[in-house]
Amino acid sequence: MSEDIQATVDVVVLGSGAAGLTAALTARGHGARVVVLEKAAKLGGTSAWSGGMIWIPNNPHMRAAGIPDSREEALTYLGSLSHDLILPELAEAYVDVGPEMVAWLETNTSVRFQMVEEFPDYHPEFPGGKPQGGRSLECPLMSYQTLGDAADRVTVGSNYGTAPVSMSESNLGRAIPIGVTDEEKARRQREDLRGCGQSLIGHLFRACIEQEIEIFTDTAALDLRLTDGEITGVQYQREGALHEIKCRAVILASGGFEWNRDMVRDFLRGPMTHPVSVPTNEGDALKMCMRIGAKLGNMREAWWMPAIEVPTDEGFRSHLFASERARPRSIMVNRKGRRFTNEAANYNAFGAAFHEQDVAAFEYANLPCWFIFDQGMMDRFGFVDVPKGSKAPNWITQAATAAELAAKLGIDADGLSKTLDHWNTSVVPNQKDEAFGRGESAHDNWWGDPNNKGTSAATLGALDQPPYYAVEVKSGALGTKGGPRTDALARVLHVDGDPIGGLYAAGNVMASAMGMTYGGAGGTLGPGMVFGFLAGRHAASRFA
Ligand SMILES: Cc1cc2nc3c(=O)[nH]c(=O)nc-3n(C[C@H](O)[C@H](O)[C@H](O)COP(=O)(O)OP(=O)(O)OC[C@H]3O[C@@H](n4cnc5c(N)ncnc54)[C@H](O)[C@@H]3O)c2cc1C
Repeated sequence: MSEDIQATVDVVVLGSGAAGLTAALTARGHGARVVVLEKAAKLGGTSAWSGGMIWIPNNPHMRAAGIPDSREEALTYLGSLSHDLILPELAEAYVDVGPEMVAWLETNTSVRFQMVEEFPDYHPEFPGGKPQGGRSLECPLMSYQTLGDAADRVTVGSNYGTAPVSMSESNLGRAIPIGVTDEEKARRQREDLRGCGQSLIGHLFRACIEQEIEIFTDTAALDLRLTDGEITGVQYQREGALHEIKCRAVILASGGFEWNRDMVRDFLRGPMTHPVSVPTNEGDALKMCMRIGAKLGNMREAWWMPAIEVPTDEGFRSHLFASERARPRSIMVNRKGRRFTNEAANYNAFGAAFHEQDVAAFEYANLPCWFIFDQGMMDRFGFVDVPKGSKAPNWITQAATAAELAAKLGIDADGLSKTLDHWNTSVVPNQKDEAFGRGESAHDNWWGDPNNKGTSAATLGALDQPPYYAVEVKSGALGTKGGPRTDALARVLHVDGDPIGGLYAAGNVMASAMGMTYGGAGGTLGPGMVFGFLAGRHAASRFA
């Protein structure tokens, strides 16, 4: 990659996550001269740290596998989850163009996908939902040796690292991952085979190299340049100096504003203290858009994700608290010692539980809250990095009795004791959670114990084997999903309604087409790449 940024190109893409790289590849593939500016020292954004799944209804791989789906089913599903926040024209664009985006990348670049088998949608029993999965795709394992020296340019996160496993083999995809032998793991490590988000970004990045698309890291876009209402350039900072690049279109793909504390406070609908994305997602493009009068939308929403603090040498890391919540022998309680929701519900929907208010007490009813589990769960599954069968380390609160645990946490001991008693004598024996319906959805059971696959016993289990353990659970997010409102071609709209000439947005930077919904595994990256594709194609068409 050359060190100098050309002074003039057709399209400048801001951000090198999956939305940005898809936009860059599409614009290039449709004839435009493209560069990507990336603020961080390494490329790939949160997308490179992610599970790498993309949720694309009616996709070509499920069709090839004979799994039925249709435009109508997908739109019915999204409509049933909308709460009037999903704009029909954006949902239609997403559903119509998703399969085309997958096919275009596979036909015109070296990017490849495969199905993540059987991963149910996140609300599979809603009309048009898929309890048997099929809509979630991932890139197959990819050898970073094929990137040569450029392999080091990709950012590596703490949740999956460079793990040589695909999503179906990881613990986000299942409670107990499909086994990969030590021998096979060693082989994969020797060949630097990576899965999940590393594979997704690896595939997209390799395709960018093949298409000679330059990606400039350590290069932060600061502002947009417009002449007579049309994009004419971008101001950016590189090596401490300010520069400008001339262009005729800009595609914003610089992620959300989750690391900007002021914006989080001012816009989100409730507390969000633990973002798990790259810390460079600070709402820079949102500021650029506000300066030029862009219309904003979906500002209150994020891709909510419960998180726990796991100690590290530097302090702690925010760990996505996803599959653990569905495991038998565990519940969650608030300061009253009471359960407050279906603990196994999908992480995005779960976010609403953190925003519930106790009106009389004028406080958040379920913040703080704790995940409570027992030695039986520890023996069967382990916990985060603690191997199964171990005793818990000190960062996990532990006690011989429920009363002692409550005292250590400073919560209502009587409340906790009653909750556990009800759980062990009613919910578990009857295999029915009357209060919150845990275990009724194929979603809950998928994330539970595979030995009881397909039944509520996958997630409902007695909590009666001391020692008892507790970890505080925080309100986190994979990223925010509000920002400039676009039309169905990914063009950013002015507050008065017309598109701003030459300005596009895709991924978490834009007002999401999904409203408050997370359709299924891959529900953020899927729409991000579809709108990246739409943006890249339309931006290139301006110069044809
Ligand atoms: C552990 C984990 C697992 C996940 N698994 C999945 C999954 O399997 N499927 C799914 O759909 N979602 C998943 N997510 C969420 C998903 O990763 C994000 O929603 C998605 O990556 C957002 O993509 P993006 O391209 O919009 O932004 P990002 O990938 O975050 O990229 C934005 C980029 O823009 C750069 N940037 C910011 N400001 C500027 C600026 N001023 N100038 C230039 N560049 C800038 C940032 O540095 C960053 O590199 C997961 C998230 C995590 C943390």
